[in-house]
Amino acid sequence: MSIKYESTRSNIKADPSEAILKGISSDGGLFVPESFPSLELAAIMDMDYKGICYEVLSRFFHEFEESHLRKIIDLSYDKFNTEKVTPIVSFDNLNFLELYHGPTLAFKDVALSILPHLLTESAKIQKVTDEIVILTATSGDTGKAALEGFADVEGTSIVVFFPDEGVSMIQRKQMTTQKGKNVQVLAIDGNFDDAQRGVKEIFSDKAYNESLKATRHILSSANSINIGRLVPQIVYYFYSYVESVKAGKLKAGDMINFTVPTGNFGNILAGYYAKMMGLPVNKLICASNDNNVLYEFFKTGEYNRNRPFLKTVSPSMDILVSSNFERLIYHVSGNDKVFVKKSMDLLNSSGTYKVDDEIKDAIDDNFYGNYCSEEDTLTTIKDVFEKYHYLMDTHTAVACKVYGDYVKATKDETLNIILSTASPFKFTKSVYEAIFGPSDLDEYLLIKELSDKTGTPLPVDLIEMCGAEDLHKDVCTFEGMKQSITDFLNRQV
Ligand SMILES: *Cc1c(COP(=O)(O)O)cnc(C)c1O
Repeated sequence: MSIKYESTRSNIKADPSEAILKGISSDGGLFVPESFPSLELAAIMDMDYKGICYEVLSRFFHEFEESHLRKIIDLSYDKFNTEKVTPIVSFDNLNFLELYHGPTLAFKDVALSILPHLLTESAKIQKVTDEIVILTATSGDTGKAALEGFADVEGTSIVVFFPDEGVSMIQRKQMTTQKGKNVQVLAIDGNFDDAQRGVKEIFSDKAYNESLKATRHILSSANSINIGRLVPQIVYYFYSYVESVKAGKLKAGDMINFTVPTGNFGNILAGYYAKMMGLPVNKLICASNDNNVLYEFFKTGEYNRNRPFLKTVSPSMDILVSSNFERLIYHVSGNDKVFVKKSMDLLNSSGTYKVDDEIKDAIDDNFYGNYCSEEDTLTTIKDVFEKYHYLMDTHTAVACKVYGDYVKATKDETLNIILSTASPFKFTKSVYEAIFGPSDLDEYLLIKELSDKTGTPLPVDLIEMCGAEDLHKDVCTFEGMKQSITDFLNRQV
């Protein structure tokens, strides 16, 4: 069976390689699979992560040859520091699926280790010989994971925009010290939504794209608007189910829940896709921080971004416009492109749109939403550490708290997996202070303190990285994004 992709906003269709290469449809819509392939649990019960990964990817990307796909899966996940790729750590009813064992310490590595390979292969399939320019807006973690994946990859360049004051010190440092001939990192004078909107506008700017074409450049995206990022994230939903069966926590066929700390709605949407492929998922629990637009939506059926943008201790979720929610609306509205287009236009012009009861009910059948305050995030880190001696990051803590609230509200005893999205060391200052109280020490110095005082080994040499030279110091305005890309590409020739 071969799956085609279509835009959420019009009749534009694409083969997988074309959808991956373009990143976003020229009408501003996102590519979605026309139908969902099924994946039988029985077929994957004895497989490891890589095996399951092949089964998922091959069902969505039929143009890729088996031997090649298997090779790039090996290359991508050999970079993780555990053979399990995404191990599960359990205490009582808390099961943490640790997605952060890749090179940059956040779950973005799971998809961004493989995306460069998918993209370069897609270019071959599409017979494109122009240089691929990856544009990326980041709330902190995508940027570094994409840089790591694309640095010095032949035939590509990458430009990353991050919110100047919206990322943790370590997230910033990871990006500004990035080496590579083909990389450009820019702080933008705005928040993540500004960066993401800027990038999306550049994608749909026909004249600008034509001018790039004249210099033999084409744009693509490493954000979760790219279907090539979303599909690899489906894998760990199946994998964690299989592992839970192997651990005797589930019988094959039993229902499972997942709690997902959510920003752009990419990670949790991959869980919905797993469900559409036949994984027995009961509820997808959507955990937000104080930027709780999605929680409000789950309550009222109205999406409303007209509100202050708050900076929180879980910065990778500081987002008011969750791009992938468009895909969900598309699927639950029965593929209603006209409705999606109208709603997204409204979101753009007035900042809000509403769905009818039928769509709302379809969403409620699959999702539960809640949020966690700043104070509760920190208390949760401390409580879990004191009870289990387990260190989690701020984003994971948001999910952990919301899962507790869900259980209180519903008494649902279905086995639940909490998606743990970042290493605690990536947010050292917040995690340290949550447990040990305020400290005057520089964040560089706290890394070792946190490791020593909690007996948690450092995953990579973050301390050395913190001392490395900043290679990227420029700040650009929202209006200046396009020009900065052009300047960078001109400098390269
Ligand atoms: C990106 C990110 C999230 C949010 O994931 P989405 O797919 O954008 O919803 C949560 N936690 C961390 C650590 C992240 O980097």
